[in-house]
Amino acid sequence: MRKPVIAGNWKMFKLIADAVETALELKPKVANANDREIVIAPVFTALRTVSDRVDGSNIRIAAQDCAVQNEFGAHTGEVSPDMLRDAGCTHVIIGHSERRQFYGETDSSVNKKTKAALSAGLVAIVCVGESLAEREAGNAETVVKSQLESGLSGLTVADMERIIIAYEPVWAIGTGKTATPEQAQDMHAAVRKTIAESHGSGVADKVRILYGGSVKPDNIVVLMSQPDVDGALVGGASLDAESFSRIVNFDRTS
Ligand code: PEP
Repeated sequence: MRKPVIAGNWKMFKLIADAVETALELKPKVANANDREIVIAPVFTALRTVSDRVDGSNIRIAAQDCAVQNEFGAHTGEVSPDMLRDAGCTHVIIGHSERRQFYGETDSSVNKKTKAALSAGLVAIVCVGESLAEREAGNAETVVKSQLESGLSGLTVADMERIIIAYEPVWAIGTGKTATPEQAQDMHAAVRKTIAESHGSGVADKVRILYGGSVKPDNIVVLMSQPDVDGALVGGASLDAESFSRIVNFDRTS
């Protein structure tokens, strides 16, 4: 049984005080959700403060990106995975489509960052997903398969225990368009098959695959009812504690 993961990507929103306020509002609302993992990803500058304020709770902290290096060095503007651990992170999001589209992230840098994150003891949430043009051209699965093969290249079976995959179709992120549950299931099954081919079926059966793209309180249950959907990476709807808590507390029987 794979434990669901609900992760909130706060992107470049919230000053430190707002981030703390949201986290503190969230904490009691999700305090009983112990059969799922809860992760929030504030901006770098708020990581330490927010992680201190949720310490001892069931909320884990992720960064939204990391450097490819772990050792100290002349890398102006970069933040290493070790530094993220130092700031209270347990997770890091790697290869989000906004970083791929606008900040030059490549499959190769995703692979290096993933390895650096793992070497620092972080869980890496590795994002993959096709653009609308790629889907319309019938290439969605090929694109995602290739992102996975490159991004996870060289990872051992033990490494894969600290990998979470987030499938986020680019056309569904921040657009209000959600993949249908069937589209999500088909791609999640393809992701699991790709991982079975590269790392074996034991790894593939265990790896959590999150869906991301306009997840809201009113579509989480139907998405989570798909057999290969193991959680969600949530952007917009994670910014508000009430709406994020409703996603976290989704009830399969409702
Ligand atoms: C995201 O940022 O990863 C995301 C899925 O955003 P949204 O939920 O707003 O589409």
